[in-house]
Amino acid sequence: MIYRDIGKTGKKASIIGLGCEHLDGKPYEQVKETIDAALDHGINILDVFMPGKEVRENISRALGSRRKDVLIQGHIGSTNVRQQYDISRDMNAVKKFFEEHLRICSGHIEFGMLFFIDSDEDFKNVFESPFADYALKLKEKGDIEHIGFSSHNPVTAIKAINTNIVEIMLFSINPAFDIIPTDEYALTLLEKGFSADSFAGIEPKRAQLYRLCEQKNIGITVMKTLGAGKLISSEHSPFGKPLTAAQCIHYALSRPAVASALIGCKNPREIEAAVKYLELDEEQKDYTGILSSVRGANGAYSLRGGCFYCSHCQPCPVQIDIASVNKYLDIAKLDPENIPLSIRSHYQSLKHKGGECIKCGNCESRCPFGVPVIENMEKAEMYFKQD
Ligand code: SF4
Ligand code: SF4
Repeated sequence: MIYRDIGKTGKKASIIGLGCEHLDGKPYEQVKETIDAALDHGINILDVFMPGKEVRENISRALGSRRKDVLIQGHIGSTNVRQQYDISRDMNAVKKFFEEHLRICSGHIEFGMLFFIDSDEDFKNVFESPFADYALKLKEKGDIEHIGFSSHNPVTAIKAINTNIVEIMLFSINPAFDIIPTDEYALTLLEKGFSADSFAGIEPKRAQLYRLCEQKNIGITVMKTLGAGKLISSEHSPFGKPLTAAQCIHYALSRPAVASALIGCKNPREIEAAVKYLELDEEQKDYTGILSSVRGANGAYSLRGGCFYCSHCQPCPVQIDIASVNKYLDIAKLDPENIPLSIRSHYQSLKHKGGECIKCGNCESRCPFGVPVIENMEKAEMYFKQD
């Protein structure tokens, strides 16, 4: 297993994590063998958004003494007051369900996630109300270590991050979501089905969100990595052919600030399939062939010019890490007058910088997305030039 820093939390997550929703309603024995398989493969981060007492207890019992080896994302505001799962902002219900989860988890949860911040109303009801104060108090008491949130909407997520309360974000990321217009709500798209007609290039708000996370050192964990299975299905994939699970995982893991791609598994076989990713070579995980041929509604190639940080352009004769230079440049462009010190220092600590480019053009001929790499190397050197 490979582990990555989760932003500023000081914790490290396995790059493949377990979304536990498919363990809901399953017998304890099945929960136990799935959790054991996950931990045996080095998975150390679990998302438990389900409010049901039985599934929470089954997961906790299955973890047993290995609880200390995992990081749990528990969700504040996930309830089942009316015997069905609900997103609640009612503080009595919110407290009842989260405190029950805390009790089941021996009084401690690593990440207290503000649940489902998708609309302006969600934002207002959570961040401008006693809801956020409640989370802050949980953190103060040590019941949770870090405050995070979950969202499917880049515009609202950007607002949530700018409150400076949160340190980790659970966000829906996959190639189809990333190239639809912002006014298409990701979950509606899942219901309606993906269609190439809605493709309109890399969605700028999403790109901005990922860069903001990197800039503010917010760790991202990914949900809907496989687009609820639609991206790996020949019937539902919008790309003319299905992606593989490994290509979807690789896509999620190559977005800036992403620590872990969570995969929903309900048995050890599915865990095995998810961690298979770790054994594959670069060619087997490569998603660029499919994405670079994507055409939008007007028939034009949709994804030209923006860097996908895929490293398809390597090797560079002077060993510039082109994807990283492009990534830091993209962040710097957000606000050139106020480039964060952390991003400056990341750039300065690269072994080979943009200024070393000898303009051989090898990278540009290899890049599936037509990125003007030579120009970008010059720009990066200009933006990050030390005084
Ligand atoms: S320049 Fe092109 S090939 Fe290189 S990382 Fe960016 S998108 Fe990938
Ligand atoms: S053009 Fe510059 S960045 Fe690209 S491969 Fe050549 S030296 Fe490396």
